[in-house]
This record gives sequence, C-alpha cells and structure tokens, in this order.
Amino acid sequence: MPDRSDVVVVGGGVMGVSLALHLLEAGVENVRLLERDGLFEGTSGAGGGFLAPWTTISPLHGAESKALPIERYGMDFYAGLHAAGYDIDYRRNGVLWVAASEAAWNQVQQLTWYAADPGSFEVEPGRMAELTGGAVSGDGVYGGRYLPCGAQVTTAKVAVAMADRITERGGVIDTRRPVSEIRVRNGRVTGVETPGGAVDCETVVVAAGAWSNRLLEPLGAFLPAVPQVTSRIITEPLGIPETMPVLMLQGLMPGEPGGGTVLWVRGHHGGLLWGGMYTTYPRNILVDAPVPDRLDELPTDGVLENQRVARAATFIPALSRPASIRVKHGAPCYTPDDMALVGPVPGVEGLYAMGGDNELGVTHGPGFGKALADRVAHGTSDLADLTPWRIDRFGNRFTNQAETFQAVVESVGQLLVGEDFAAAGEPR
Ligand SMILES: Cc1cc2nc3c(=O)[nH]c(=O)nc-3n(C[C@H](O)[C@H](O)[C@H](O)COP(=O)(O)OP(=O)(O)OC[C@H]3O[C@@H](n4cnc5c(N)ncnc54)[C@H](O)[C@@H]3O)c2cc1C
Repeated sequence: MPDRSDVVVVGGGVMGVSLALHLLEAGVENVRLLERDGLFEGTSGAGGGFLAPWTTISPLHGAESKALPIERYGMDFYAGLHAAGYDIDYRRNGVLWVAASEAAWNQVQQLTWYAADPGSFEVEPGRMAELTGGAVSGDGVYGGRYLPCGAQVTTAKVAVAMADRITERGGVIDTRRPVSEIRVRNGRVTGVETPGGAVDCETVVVAAGAWSNRLLEPLGAFLPAVPQVTSRIITEPLGIPETMPVLMLQGLMPGEPGGGTVLWVRGHHGGLLWGGMYTTYPRNILVDAPVPDRLDELPTDGVLENQRVARAATFIPALSRPASIRVKHGAPCYTPDDMALVGPVPGVEGLYAMGGDNELGVTHGPGFGKALADRVAHGTSDLADLTPWRIDRFGNRFTNQAETFQAVVESVGQLLVGEDFAAAGEPR
C-alpha cells in the first residue's frame, strides 16, 4: 500500500521545513516532508545564519521592500524558538556594517537604514573596538553603521528545533527518501514516487533548492533561478567574545570600486565564521551544469577570499592568527529580480514551488513558509500576498539557465561595480 498524505513537501532545507511546520500550524493534518539526505544537509547547512531586514537595506529594493513583513516574521520566528528554550545559538548582537574604503563608505551612507531599523546609528572608527568587545580595531576603516535588530543562529541547530516542532504537531519527516518523480494525471498531481514506495497526495510543494528544476523539468516547468556556489569557513576557538555583532565588511579590495562585494564575519563558539559573495571562480560553475547531490567537494576560491581576509586582518587581528578551519559549501539560487519564487506552478493543479532564495533563505524561509502554507490551506495569508513572488511573473522570458544567469548578472551587477564582475558574465 502506498503512503497517503494531504500535502507532500519535497526538500528538507530551511524552505521545506518552514513550510511543513506552517502547514501543520495552518490546520493541514497530514503533512509529510521527504528529504533525499538529512535535514539541512544541502545549502541550508552552510548558511551563515545572519538575520536582518536584508532587502530593506539593499539598493535593489530599499525602504519599500515588499519582503519587509517576511523578514520581520523570520526574525521574530527565530527569537520565538530561542524563547521557547531551543538551543539554536540565537544571539541578538546586531549587525555592524564596516566600510573599508571611501567608495564603500559613500555607498553605505546611501542605504535605507532607518526603514530596516529605526534604532540604526552611525559608528565612528574609534568606537568600533568598544562595540565589538575589542574584535575590530577600527584602524584604517572609514566608518560603520550599526543595526541593533540584527541577530544570528546556527542553522544545523535550527533544523533540530524545527523538526521537533513538526513531529510534535503530528507531521512526518522521512529523511534518506528522495523523490524520483512527481506523478501527474489529467493535469493534476496524484502523488510522488520514491525508491521506498509511492506517496499518494493531491498537493506537492517542491522546495528542493538547487535541485528543484530536476523534478520540475519533466513536467515542462522551469524555475528561473541559477545556483551560485557560496562557502563559509569556521575556525577553531580564538577567544572571540560572544557579544560580537555580525560584521559586514565592504570595500576590502582596491579593485572593487563602489564598495564591491561583502565579506561577512561573525563569532561562532569562540572562533570566527566567515564567507562572502564574490563573482569570480567558482561562483558560477553550477550554471548550466548538473548540480551534484553532495556539495562538499566543490572548490573554493583560494585567491580572492584569502586576499580579502588578509586585508580584513588589518583591523580584525584574530583573522591573522593561525587556526584550523572547516569549510562548507552551498548553492543558493538567484533570480533575475532578486525576489523569491513562491506559489503555484502553472499548468499542474496541486503543484507548488518554493525557491529562488537569493541567499536569504534562512531569514526568509519562515515567512515564506507561513505565507505559502496559509495560501495552500486557506487560499490567502494575512502575512503577505504572494503575488510579487509568483512563479510565472516573467512570462516566457526565461526558459533556460543561460538566459536567467545573464539577467541575474545584470541585476546583481548594480551592486558590484567592479571589473571582475564583467568577467563573471561568462559561466565557467
Ligand atoms: C555560505 C552561505 C551563507 C549563507 N548565509 C545566509 C545568512 O546569513 N542568512 C540568510 O538568510 N541566508 C543565508 N544563506 C542562504 C540560505 O542558506 C539559503 O537561502 C537557504 O539555505 C536555501 O534553502 P533551501 O531550502 O531552498 O535549499 P536547501 O537547503 O538546499 O534544501 C533543499 C533540500 O532538498 C533536498 N532535495 C533535493 N532533491 C531532492 C529530491 N529529489 N527529493 C527529496 N529531497 C531533495 C536536498 O537534499 C536539500 O536538503 C547562506 C547560504 C550560504 C551557502
């Protein structure tokens, strides 16, 4: 006998887990989450775990960002898990944006900080040591901006907490159970196939991150989102104070005019956790290439990353201390308009998708999970009308990865005015 569920969620990353939990909270009784590996072993396990109203301070969206309610919901959601006693390493230490060049400082000053957090304030370089428990000296820094609402979590611990809530509410989580096919009859979902047997259901939500298109393509559907390799590094303990804010370091490399890309750094169990967005190899190696099931053997960019860390070490002395490191890779999926893809998949009744995380899925997952769960269960959500994130908003403009990637380069390029960005237009 096949298993039977009301709703099947495919993918146990932060998107799928958030959705499964909120479906149960919205009153759907029989929710089953199917995960190929273990929970958060894809991109979510690599997530830095920084929480803030990111789109609201992004020049791509600004003060009017439609995602602000989603971002606020996510931040409250993790604070709620912490308040309920779950150990998720939750710390509301704020975010300190540090401009390491004049161009970066000019850019930072133009961002819409007050919309993101009315308590935000400017930080003189001389005050940085005080604000960071001595971790940032402020030497050679142009200025900074502090966002008190910013917080941080450890994503692997979030997975445990959310799984606990799902099972407590009667949901079923099947790990090591990959979905091989979504069954459709007469234009309607009838279930999914897995090596461990079929699951009959009338509603399926694909939240399989960088692997979502693998499941959707046989049904003639395509999510316009491209995977971008992104890695984070964790050091052994270095005596970093637990109170250190998340640091966003901009303008580190002279060749990145306009502020360029950001290196992010935070404390993690006394050590440092860092990573960043860059546009050079291997960022684009998964574009128009099959995404391997395991991301752990992807390469890292030893050159640019090391150069940026070396430069940052001039004002974060702990970065220059010898330390063993652990690396984890992810493949966040970027969309042409920097907005997620959440809602019904056109052409197949009962099929939904939740993807296009734009590297903000830890912050946005709970909010989109709630909004989509409400939509599936009740047809509408008080948190957000999902129209701006609907999957078919581009019409037929993007039918493959190459077209999508070019559009991503053009939109994200507004943030990265560096020369290396032009080179990033060529997938490698
Ligand atoms: C280095 C790094 C730092 C980041 N930092 C932050 C941050 O500070 N703040 C923030 O908000 N976001 C951050 N992000 C982004 C965030 O991690 C992602 O947006 C988010 O994890 C994407 O979640 P997901 O559920 O869409 O994908 P995933 O976590 O990849 O989940 C998809 C799941 O689907 C499963 N799957 C695939 N195919 C199948 C199948 N056929 N059947 C069943 N299961 C399947 C996979 O195994 C995987 O577990 C960061 C990402 C990286 C890589």
